[in-house]
Amino acid sequence: MINFLDLKKINLKYQEEIENKLLQVFRSGWYLLGDELKNFEKNLSEYIGSKYAIGAANGLDALRLIFRAYIELGFMHPGDEVIVPSNTYIASILALSDNGLIPVLVEPDINTYNIDISKIKEKITSKTKAILIVHLQGRVIFSEELKKISQKYHLKIIEDNAQAIGAEWKNIKSGNLGDAAGFSFYPGKNLGAIGDAGAVTTNDKVLFETIKALGNYGSKEKYINIYKGLNSRLDEIQAAVLDVKLKYIDQENEARRNIANKFILGITNPKIILPENPSEEKEHVWHVFVIRTENRDELQQYLHNKGIHTIIHYPIPPHQQKAYKEMNNLTFPISEKIHKEVLSLPISSVLEEIEIETIIKALNEY
Ligand SMILES: *Cc1c(COP(=O)(O)O)cnc(C)c1O
Repeated sequence: MINFLDLKKINLKYQEEIENKLLQVFRSGWYLLGDELKNFEKNLSEYIGSKYAIGAANGLDALRLIFRAYIELGFMHPGDEVIVPSNTYIASILALSDNGLIPVLVEPDINTYNIDISKIKEKITSKTKAILIVHLQGRVIFSEELKKISQKYHLKIIEDNAQAIGAEWKNIKSGNLGDAAGFSFYPGKNLGAIGDAGAVTTNDKVLFETIKALGNYGSKEKYINIYKGLNSRLDEIQAAVLDVKLKYIDQENEARRNIANKFILGITNPKIILPENPSEEKEHVWHVFVIRTENRDELQQYLHNKGIHTIIHYPIPPHQQKAYKEMNNLTFPISEKIHKEVLSLPISSVLEEIEIETIIKALNEY
């Protein structure tokens, strides 16, 4: 069986370094808000190029904290609108509705799967306060046009960078393109912890300080609470593991890129629509390799029978989820088509040459 993702194998590549760190943290007796977190925050902000990085308990919290901070700072109010792609993981939308903000969905571009920037303007109203871009599948979405729109209408640009750590747009890393960015280090992400973990990056000092306090009970000084905050901390164990793995993220992403290129060259079956390789290769870190086909479920079963495990990212678009009844009457034909047709192939730095060939051969024989 070719696994979709072999986390054990990925992490064992760094076994010695990680196990040494784990033992060190365990024996230190200090498990929260210590040196490991400080180091990781410093190294993450250096890597991204941002002034600040703040650890959070997970990626959803990282995004929730950003919007919560803008509300505390008076830039946004519950009932305000935020533009977000209709084709995203539910967490992007949850971060908004959790703060009483209204998600205003915009269709993606069918070729990049990312928000169609040309369709943003028509959705802007006097209540619009931000654009939440999602670098879906590991592919950066950004443009001069987007920057102009945000400046003209005084909108914040927030990045959901859960899937694209290490990607770059014109030599700027994703996570440093907008006003603030949320990261997820869920174990299956390109930079994965051994549990839940996340972070925020920003260049805005006031936002940084507000988020830092909000994630720690709304307090800057112990037992003095200035906001009704939450408890969302990145613990020392996760920070230590992430700090080890951060050193290798470019290598990991490069390995994914090589596999993506092999798939793109090797898969020639006309029934299968391949993802587009961006003209600048650094714009993509291939968190997932998503193909499209008309009879997706049939193809998934066929691959399963050949011992190839695939996953659907994602089967139901957010506006059709039961949790968002208020959006169930909306239609987003491009998103709906994507959700019906996509299938993610195994891609990770530990996929072996023979496995890559097996996947290509199976798809070409389909
Ligand atoms: C994984 C993910 C999140 C949420 O991250 P968690 O760490 O699981 O909370 C948010 N947005 C996107 C696009 C994701 O892929």
